[in-house]
Amino acid sequence: MSKIFCIANQKGGVGKTTTTVNLAAGLAQVGQRVLMVDLDPQGNATMGSGVDKRGLTLSVYDVLLESSSVREAAQRAPAGGYDVLGANRELAGAEVELVALAQRERRLKAALAQVAPDYDFVLIDCPPSLGLLTLNGLCAAHGVIVPMQCEYFALEGLSDLVNTIKQVHAKLNPDLQIIGLLRVMFDPRITLQQQVSEQLKGHFGDKVFDTVIPRNVRLAEAPSYGQPGVVFDPAAKGSQAFVEFAREMVARVPRL
Ligand code: ADP
Ligand code: MG
Repeated sequence: MSKIFCIANQKGGVGKTTTTVNLAAGLAQVGQRVLMVDLDPQGNATMGSGVDKRGLTLSVYDVLLESSSVREAAQRAPAGGYDVLGANRELAGAEVELVALAQRERRLKAALAQVAPDYDFVLIDCPPSLGLLTLNGLCAAHGVIVPMQCEYFALEGLSDLVNTIKQVHAKLNPDLQIIGLLRVMFDPRITLQQQVSEQLKGHFGDKVFDTVIPRNVRLAEAPSYGQPGVVFDPAAKGSQAFVEFAREMVARVPRL
């Protein structure tokens, strides 16, 4: 049975997509069966996995509107060793179309239940908002991975997300928990980042992952080659950190 994780943070540009595709590739590398779901109409995780969002005949949009199953709509990433349920701009419409439908928050959950035996991990890349798409992700998930930069307003920005997760936990999905905060784009030379990192550990304790993802230009270059950094340049420090993070996740899952 698969374990399902949302990669979420309502801020844009914090490293959600980079985390999703590299964790997917890292988990595949350590022998896990992985499905990556792109829930962001920008389709960055789709493109970053080497799947052209403009050429999708079926996408997560069709799955949410129940005109396709996950099995029909998912495809193998050309590099990376995981499956991709892709997204493109069409998905932006779903935010509105879903409102009128029954079980509007639970559509992804129902669809993913059908492929539970096929995967060890399902990773959901969420859009930078807390709308119906993200809600579908949170309803489907066992846990949330929150990538964050160790910047001055980092803690403040977290409270909206933490409140949303609490509400979803109380009303829609009693399984849901924050698995952990992942420090990304970390630069140890910057004193402020070290201070915020210590604050995070003080406040959230072992909810802060041990693995730290460094700022690494190879991770930023990889998407333009349609590959996760882990595949594009396995020797890069950022890639190695993501494989380490994949191992940390595999070790944590039995305790969830
Ligand atoms: P989000 O999905 O939250 O909007 P992205 O994963 O797209 O964030 O990251 C935002 C930008 O930061 C992208 O240009 C990405 O390549 C870059 N980036 C993300 N993580 C790193 C990192 N560890 N080192 C360097 N650049 C990074
Ligand atoms: Mg993104």
